[in-house]
Amino acid sequence: MTAQLIDGNALSKTLRAEVATRAATLAARGHQPGLAVVLVGDNPASEVYVRNKIKACADNGLASTCERYPATLTQTALLARIEALNQDPKIHGILVQLPLPAHIDSHKVIEAIAAEKDVDGFHVANAGALMTGRPLFRPCTPYGVMKMFEAYGIELAGAHAVVIGRSNIVGKPMALMLLDAGATVTVCHSKTRDLAAHTRTADIVVAATGKRNLLTAEMVKPGAAVIDVGMNRDEAGKLCGDVDFAGVSSVAGYLTPVPGGVGPMTITMLLVNTLEAAERAAAHA
Ligand code: NAP
Repeated sequence: MTAQLIDGNALSKTLRAEVATRAATLAARGHQPGLAVVLVGDNPASEVYVRNKIKACADNGLASTCERYPATLTQTALLARIEALNQDPKIHGILVQLPLPAHIDSHKVIEAIAAEKDVDGFHVANAGALMTGRPLFRPCTPYGVMKMFEAYGIELAGAHAVVIGRSNIVGKPMALMLLDAGATVTVCHSKTRDLAAHTRTADIVVAATGKRNLLTAEMVKPGAAVIDVGMNRDEAGKLCGDVDFAGVSSVAGYLTPVPGGVGPMTITMLLVNTLEAAERAAAHA
């Protein structure tokens, strides 16, 4: 193995300790940061994500509430709950766990969250502000990836970065953040004709597809930094990413493991976004 592992657990620990210190300072001034998580339905993966987010809040001095509703909840009732949370001064961040049941329009729900409490960074106001370079919140997963580049001194200015995936929550904001940092960015997706032709010339590859073993050693330029956002299960039910870890680790310069890479960073950046929302609210109190 030649690649240096990018340790998302270790970096998260450092960043979460900073969050805890700043949260304690705010709490001492009567402004404990508060996150509201809303979960509709009984998707088992969502249950796990929500549990981890609530625990991370508790471990780092943030208050959190978790509202659970049956899959039969109406869209009107959900929008009314969000409006109540928008008005609640103890709540600085609102996170509606996706996916929502099919009868609920998730766009409408996300747009109902006050932009200054949109700690996921999915609201159109924050997505638009990301495009122009001044968002209140950056989506947690690509924001966490940017922190990894920073922590490991991976040069972005002038680098060729290939992002595989173009979702609103990972691929597109990742591409914008890399562009903002001075990378030359190529965005690939399921219609891309020759994925390997793009990745082979990349100094940085971010794989965010949900397709196991999509990125193999022969698709990677020696020394490249490879970030594996994917979260998949192998035949044995073990968590794995989009990257053929064993193969790519012998070619890449840097590589994130799954688990222990991007996953913990996503939750860490949720804490950072919630803390910053509370700091902004306290400054205006
Ligand atoms: P998504 O909305 O399903 O988007 C997947 C993207 O991958 C799409 O743009 C799709 O292209 C592209 N794609 C699919 N197959 C491809 C192929 N064979 N070649 C090239 N591109 C392909 O998923 P997402 O929400 O962005 O999440 C992506 C992965 O990251 C999932 O495994 C998810 O579980 C994981 N994830 C992890 C974290 C974390 O904290 N670690 C956070 C969020 C997501 P089209 O647009 O053309 O369909």
